[in-house]
Formats: sequence, structure tokens, C-alpha cells
Amino acid sequence: MTFPLSSSVTAIHGLHGFFHSTGFVIARNLSVVLAVVFWLGLAFWVHKDARRRIRDPFLVFVATLVGLVPPYIGPIVYLLFRPSETLDDRRSRRVELQALEQHLTRSRPACPVCSSPAEPDYLACPVCMTMLRHPCAKCNAPLEPLWQLCPYCATPIAEPSQVDLDAALTSEAKTITLVDDGIPLVPQTEPRVADA
Ligand SMILES: [Zn+2]
Ligand SMILES: [Zn+2]
Repeated sequence: MTFPLSSSVTAIHGLHGFFHSTGFVIARNLSVVLAVVFWLGLAFWVHKDARRRIRDPFLVFVATLVGLVPPYIGPIVYLLFRPSETLDDRRSRRVELQALEQHLTRSRPACPVCSSPAEPDYLACPVCMTMLRHPCAKCNAPLEPLWQLCPYCATPIAEPSQVDLDAALTSEAKTITLVDDGIPLVPQTEPRVADA
């Protein structure tokens, strides 16, 4: 019964030959090189990503170290604990917030004379005492100067200037009527002493 022994010896010889063949050595070396390149590449990626997300250089160094050791598991640990936002994201969000704040402060109603903040229901500026709105004649709601009608009680707004003009015209007409009754419209020039 030497056949199985010789067969196993041949197999071992074959295996030995395979492990020492040039093809296997090349394949092994290549995979080792690939593993090292992949390991260093992952660590480099962790370093780049940490620099985009972390401001503190020491923490970036610690993150890179975690990406390097333990190999392959370090980058996964880093992924679990890295900051969710990049520094660029945070900066652009801050800029957006600032722009929004500025827009809000600009669109807030203000006194046209002294620019101090004025609420939409102010009748007058509390700082410089400028009249901002007139109260509705019926419901006393503050009315914007351009409004032709009170939106709260639907009372038409009589323009103060127009009222004044109407009153002035009426009184003028009355004066003319009074004048027309007896006294001449064009005032007579006083006869000068030299003419007499
Ligand atoms: Zn004012
Ligand atoms: Zn009203």
C-alpha cells in the first residue's frame, strides 16, 4: 500500500511547488502592495475629509491617526464620529443667515424722517414726533397715507388736503358773494394827493 503515500507526497510536493512558483509570489507581493496602497489611500482620504470638516489642526491630526491605525477599521470609526457639516457648509449657512437678518431689519417699517423703528400701527414717530398715519374718522384705525378707504370699517377717506381745499374754495366763494353784494371786487386805489 504505497500508492496513497506516494500520492500524498506528490500532492505536498505539488503544493510546495505552487507556493514557491513565480506566479504565486508575484500575486502575493501584488496583493500586499495593493493592501498597503489602499490602507494609505484611506488614511489620506480621512485626512482630506477631516481638514474639510475640522478647524482645529490637532483634531485633524488625531483623525488622520485614527484613519491610519487600525488599518481599514480606523476610517470606518472616523466615518461614525466625523462632524456632519463641512466648514464650507457652516460658513455659507452663516452668510445666508446674515443676509436674511439684514433683509429683515431693512424691511422693518421705520420713520421716514429719523429712521427709528416704527410699528405699522403707529400714528406718529415716538422719537421725532412726525405724523406717520392719520386715524380713521370712524374706527380710529391707523391709515396709510395712500389708502383711499379704511380697510377696517370701509369708510372712504377724505384727503385732509382736499378737505382743506374744499373749505378754502367754499369760504372764497362766500367772500366773493359778500363782496359782490355791495363792495366792488377790485379794490379802488386811493386817490393820491398829487392827482387831486
Ligand atoms: Zn421719526
Ligand atoms: Zn375705519
